[in-house]
Amino acid sequence: MKKYAEMSKQELEDEIVQLKAQYKKFQEMDLNLNMARGKPCREQLDLSMGLMDALNSEADLSCEDGTDCRNYGVLTGIDEAKVLIGAMMENKPENIIIYGNSSLNVMYDTVSRAYTHGIMGNTPWCKLDKVKFLCPVPGYDRHFAITEYFGIEMINVDMTPEGPDMDKVEELVSSDESIKGIWCVPKYSNPQGYSYSDDTVRRFARLKPAAKDFRIFWDNAYGIHHLYDNNQDYLIEILEECKKAGNPDLVYKFASTSKITFPGSGIAALATSLNNLDDIKAQLTNQTIGHDKVNQLRHVRFFGDINGMKAHMRKHAEIIRPKFEAVLEILDRDLTPCGIGDWTKPNGGYFISFDAPEGCAKAIVDRAKKAGVTMTNAGATYPYKKDPHDSNIRIAPTYPSLPDLRTAMDIFTVCVRLTAATKMLAEIAE
Ligand code: PMP
Repeated sequence: MKKYAEMSKQELEDEIVQLKAQYKKFQEMDLNLNMARGKPCREQLDLSMGLMDALNSEADLSCEDGTDCRNYGVLTGIDEAKVLIGAMMENKPENIIIYGNSSLNVMYDTVSRAYTHGIMGNTPWCKLDKVKFLCPVPGYDRHFAITEYFGIEMINVDMTPEGPDMDKVEELVSSDESIKGIWCVPKYSNPQGYSYSDDTVRRFARLKPAAKDFRIFWDNAYGIHHLYDNNQDYLIEILEECKKAGNPDLVYKFASTSKITFPGSGIAALATSLNNLDDIKAQLTNQTIGHDKVNQLRHVRFFGDINGMKAHMRKHAEIIRPKFEAVLEILDRDLTPCGIGDWTKPNGGYFISFDAPEGCAKAIVDRAKKAGVTMTNAGATYPYKKDPHDSNIRIAPTYPSLPDLRTAMDIFTVCVRLTAATKMLAEIAE
């Protein structure tokens, strides 16, 4: 097989005829496959059914300190949940607030509080002419949706395999007082599966923001979501680094058990400095009497401790590793010989990021859709849904069964080849 870039006009035309025939066959299969969202599959959810047995009508629902979990109270979460989630987040229990069922909700609340009331006595963002956030791209669409909703201007910063372009981050953050935050997924990032290098984390901790109320929104959603036992990414701990750098209040760190137990029925948490915690608690006390302590206790009884959680994550990995490997195998089998596309090979997380030749992503996703394969919308990984290169496509391998995933990827690579070959032929003809 020749690389597309080396093909003559005739060779490209022949290739397109052959690909169109394959594409038509797929369309005739009338499939309905979905690789759009990073949802765990049924077998993964089954792993956590023990949560349903962890508590029953005979159970003693009191915490270690005697608090009755069935009743009101305990604003920041029960101690044993802080110990468990603290171990998961690599933070001390006293730096943690346990929230409800969603970390995204906590992120939204954090932006909302800064918007209406300001951070630690600073001017509320709603009273400022301009508020901006840095957005490493490609990134997580729901982060961008939050900042867009509040009318915050989003500025793209390119991702590298080591994390965001830190020269750019440092330059912007130190020179522009209207830049109030940055969205980060520091480990097994969404969508590339990259983990920030030690140097990147340290440079984050040493930032000298022009704005006193600048905060790093450190969404460590995939902190223990490894695919391999012997090949795991390691991330240095940001709160500790910020403290060492004399910047203790610089970061809000988020996490949840969404992709550990049940998404939407897990527990979420925030870890930050004691100063930030006081600021947040002053608001939180007006918002709720306390979150779902029964669910917190259920999670603690189910896992026991962090070792229980890590053993549980190995079972997830056994289910989803073959799916990641199938995606990579098919991309390599079908696209490497043609010399088109680039993709990431993550050691964990939920996604593989695919970069199509410039200007092709939308057409590929449309073509796949018409053959019964739903992908994440092209552009979704960028603020305002605008990918300046129309290139990035997020692949979410976890939800479909392995046979369905293989079929979906067979179709996907035909769509990539057909779109790329058609574009190249048009370019030759010009
Ligand atoms: N952050 C990231 C980076 C995610 O990928 C996801 C899930 N797709 C979430 C947060 C959502 O977390 P939660 O369910 O805790 O709201």
